[in-house]
This record gives sequence, C-alpha cells and structure tokens, in this order.
Amino acid sequence: MKLSPREIHARAAEARAHYARCDLCAHLCRVDRTNGPAGACQEGDGLFLAGAGVHFGEEPRLVPSGLILVGGCNLACESCETYEFSLERRGLRKTSPAELASLLIDLAAKGAKNANFVTPTHVLPAILEGLAIAADHGFSLPVVWNCGGYESVEALRLLEGIVSIYLPDAKYGDDAAAFELSGCKSYTAALRESLAEMVRQVGAENMIVRHLVLPGGVASPEKVMRLIAEVSREVVVNVMSQYRPVYRAARFPVIARGVDRDEVDAAVAAANDAGLRNVLVDGI
Ligand code: SF4
Repeated sequence: MKLSPREIHARAAEARAHYARCDLCAHLCRVDRTNGPAGACQEGDGLFLAGAGVHFGEEPRLVPSGLILVGGCNLACESCETYEFSLERRGLRKTSPAELASLLIDLAAKGAKNANFVTPTHVLPAILEGLAIAADHGFSLPVVWNCGGYESVEALRLLEGIVSIYLPDAKYGDDAAAFELSGCKSYTAALRESLAEMVRQVGAENMIVRHLVLPGGVASPEKVMRLIAEVSREVVVNVMSQYRPVYRAARFPVIARGVDRDEVDAAVAAANDAGLRNVLVDGI
C-alpha cells in the first residue's frame, strides 16, 4: 500500500460516506445502505465474511495468496460458483474492522504474500476500515482486488494507492447476455471504464483479467477480447475452462452444460487474434 495508515483512515472515512447514496459499483443504485440492505446487491453497511486462509489455487505469481472471501455480491450470476455465500449468504460471519485487521495480520504471519479480497467491491468502505487498522499495526502486504469487472470509477478511485494488483473478471462481450445471466445493464461499458481506470492506477503489468469460457459462445469471447485489447494489449488475460452448470444454470439452456475443448480453444484464439500479448490458459 502506497498510502500511510493515516491516509488510509481518511480514505476509509471518505468511502463510508458513499453508503448513504451508494455508487460503489456500476449499478449506481444511489440508495441509502446505512439503515439496512438496499440496492441491487441488497447489502447494508456491515461486512460479512465467508472465510479466509492461505490459498495456492490462484495464478502462480499470486501464491501463496491470503484469500478473504467476502459474503454477498454486486452481480447476480445465474451460474455462480460461490452462490452459497455470494448470493444466498449462507454461513457468513459478521466481521468488524478490528476483526478484519486481526485476520489480515494473521494471514501475513502464515506466509501469505498478498491480501486477496474476493468479490469485495460492494463493501469497499468496510474493507478500507480494516486495512487502515491493520496498517496501524504494521501490515503492509500488497492488496489484490479480485472483482467482477462491474465496478464504478467512483469506487475504483477510492482504491488508488491502496490496491497493488487488480484481478477483475471480464465476463461478457455482449450486454444482452450480461443482463440475462448476471443482471447487469451496460456491462461492457462498465467493464471498459473499469479496466481503463485499473490500468491507469497500477499499470498493465499489475493486472490479471480473467475470462471464464461459457458454453455456446454466449459470453462472446471475440468481443470481450477485443474490448480488453482496446484498453491494453499488455495485461495478463487468463482464459479459464472450469465452467460447470451450477446454481440456477439449468434454467437457461445455453449455459446448462459444461464447456468443451473447442470452445476453450476458440476463446484463446480470440485473445490471440485481438493482439493480447500475455494469454494464460487456466493460469499457465
Ligand atoms: S454496491 Fe452496487 S448494487 Fe450495491 S447498492 Fe451500491 S451501487 Fe447498488
């Protein structure tokens, strides 16, 4: 983190004010979350965690990663892999800023080389409060922001000088699919703006963009790869093949099956055709 503990406290206070008229993601609901759940994410102003631990399953440059699994989400993906805690909010633990700070210090003591917040954007202010307290106690690991690609520039600006590595999804190259399958309007415009702001802050060398291949080309990999390349050809793009039809995927015939090798190969070819220079497949 480039900011001092005092500056992070100030940033957290600035961020908290956003809960009263929430613009913390590209839904831009502008609702008051200080009196309880509201907006598209149906979140209040508390932080709920599903778990935390040192994890080795991320891209090689990130491991061992100090994973912090945040409850709730600003997206509503019909095939969410983590729907139990992201959408159904099962097994969550309310976590105060001081408790989050202890957890971060504990992850550092266990050998994590970063603090990797998974789906954190909707509770950004609460996370900054925990980071500020941790920084008071000497915590200095790089912060990884592992998010859905549907951020707002307003929210991302609150992270400048705090996040070292952005790890956004680039889920769709097609707005109709994004709306039907994740409940997001104008996803591609938000993704483009988010990626541009992230690159501005940390540089392409500190960006890993993940694209989960969906069956039947429904995520429009050609379009999404072109969109990424228009922002930067230098970012790392990780094409992921592990899609499984979980949660409510069976209700949507197009995503009711896994992906085949040809579909993964087509997404990789689309990335290469778009001129992206750093393409991984399943992290390798
Ligand atoms: S985080 Fe996003 S979805 Fe949730 S209330 Fe704020 S703008 Fe709406």
